[in-house]
Amino acid sequence: MTAKIIDGLALAKAMRTGFADRVGALARHGVTPGLAVLLVGEDPASAVYVGRKIKACSAVGIRSFAEHLPVSVGNAELLGRIVELNADPDMHGILVQLPLPPHIDMPRVLETISAEKDVDGFHLYNVGGLVTGSTVFSPCTPYGVVKLLEHEGIPVEGQNVVIVGASNIVGKPMALMLMARDATVSICHAKTRDLAQYTILADILVVAAGVPGLIVPQMVKQGAVVIDVGINRLPDGRITGDVDFEGVRRKAAAITPVPGGVGPMTVTMLLENTIKSAERRLALAS
Ligand code: NAP
Repeated sequence: MTAKIIDGLALAKAMRTGFADRVGALARHGVTPGLAVLLVGEDPASAVYVGRKIKACSAVGIRSFAEHLPVSVGNAELLGRIVELNADPDMHGILVQLPLPPHIDMPRVLETISAEKDVDGFHLYNVGGLVTGSTVFSPCTPYGVVKLLEHEGIPVEGQNVVIVGASNIVGKPMALMLMARDATVSICHAKTRDLAQYTILADILVVAAGVPGLIVPQMVKQGAVVIDVGINRLPDGRITGDVDFEGVRRKAAAITPVPGGVGPMTVTMLLENTIKSAERRLALAS
């Protein structure tokens, strides 16, 4: 068996084309969706990610800006800037690029962003909403995975889903979002004993550990769907996922490549959330 390659780039492109109609409809009401991105410090990878987000916003008609704060910025100053943006009617989304320097109180930063503008889906209200089904904005990476599965017509209900990685931004919300769709979900992490004992049972295997080559063919059930969220830079500069792509594609029914799988969907869901935020505000005002 050779797996179908799930093309995240193509779906991201199609979705972004579709955003033009929604941005156009907002424009007829005098509304331009707005996204503010705060970047603290000099992390080069963060600067690249922020640059990509700003560029993607501009391509679909979202007004966005990145504000670069020095690594020495204090908690009070950063929180104060977020409070100002919360009150800015032109900004429908606020995003603080992670990771933050260690002296910054990250939980407080995430809670200070208004839940109504929390387009990254990291505010406690939105995190809790994943449990109760009342979230306003779903976190972008797991939301992108859900969209990929939907687009590919891959059923989730009743399936054994195994998630490798239990972070707050990928693994845990992924588990909740797939549970909400009636999957039977197991979550594994670095302290899981005998990882393969779990992964071999997966109808759908989602891997977000940040460990290149972690998942090898012997760990994958014949005909499984494999979603590789990992993004790892190898010493030679190449980008790779957490899955042995060449080996596993011979066993899986479908697999996402890295790059070109989940990655492009993450930014796309940020655009989706920002447009949704502007639509919600307009609906509340009318
Ligand atoms: P993270 O915060 O470092 O969390 C990694 C998780 O994987 C943790 O739960 C950790 O377990 C678990 N883990 C680590 N080594 C493991 C092992 N050998 N076996 C099983 N589990 C293991 O990372 P993250 O932010 O969730 O990101 C995970 C990966 O996804 C990274 O490569 C990141 O670059 C990528 N990513 C991609 C996108 C995208 O758009 N495609 C978005 C976000 C992240 P413990 O909890 O026990 O430590």
